[in-house]
Amino acid sequence: MKRYLGIDIGASSFKYGVGDSKHGLQCFDTIWFKEKSLSAFQEVTTEILDRVQDQGILSIGIGSPGTISRPEGKIVGLNPNLPFFSGLSPRELLPQGFELPVFVDNDANLMALAEADLHKSSFTIGITVGSGIGCGIVLGGEVYHGAHGFASEAGHCIMISDGEKCSCGQNGCLEAYSSVDGLRRRLERQGLPYHALSLPKLIALRTKEEELDRIISEGEDILIRAVANLVTLLDPQIVVLGGGAMELGLYDINKIKKAVPQYLPEAHRQKFHCAIAGYKNRAGVMGAIILCERNTL
Ligand SMILES: [Zn+2]
Repeated sequence: MKRYLGIDIGASSFKYGVGDSKHGLQCFDTIWFKEKSLSAFQEVTTEILDRVQDQGILSIGIGSPGTISRPEGKIVGLNPNLPFFSGLSPRELLPQGFELPVFVDNDANLMALAEADLHKSSFTIGITVGSGIGCGIVLGGEVYHGAHGFASEAGHCIMISDGEKCSCGQNGCLEAYSSVDGLRRRLERQGLPYHALSLPKLIALRTKEEELDRIISEGEDILIRAVANLVTLLDPQIVVLGGGAMELGLYDINKIKKAVPQYLPEAHRQKFHCAIAGYKNRAGVMGAIILCERNTL
């Protein structure tokens, strides 16, 4: 059996695993980083390499937040969660002289790649809901990158005219309303005392606090409209929703399944198919491993 190492860089931790898409993951673990700096990220990467050194891996796949230019492989644009990462390549996390092949892609692209493989779907849209909103499009088994690597930035599609300020510099983006950080910023701006609570506590309080419930419901509704827009534009076989906030139940997958069709043209309604990410929090790691499988000679 051939083994690959997948690393998924998140807002507060690195997830990693070793395996392949046929046999699954032989190991999976999470390492939280101490601070958001290049040296702290390099330390975590070295720790992962130490832990898997006996596993005979053939290559490494890294999923990173942010827009990654092609063919340069550098993170471009504002990256509010990881500001130090802009202008760098995730390859720079590896020690100098590292010899195995390394493949890099956006984390949501890799989640979509894993879910496309799992669902045996020829055309998949993956959306991750976490501190930001990620999106990946997989067509015929390949991630669709666009002309410059910038495709699938659904989180920064503007949903509301003159809406809330987004971390990207625009106003009214999907991410400003439906991501966890977007919800927190809205709660803070409206002077509501919940913005610093953990996500599970926020979700639990929702049934008791009307204003909190209204803001989360607005986030859900805008996400539903965004999914409908993507389906109307692209006609995918399946839309997969994942990410930490979906797993915790911030938004209700059954409500999304029911509500999206009401915004679709009639022909699309019967064909709309939506699911929660089957690989759950391992989707990014598995996508990174599939990226290795596709590219390692
Ligand atoms: Zn934006």
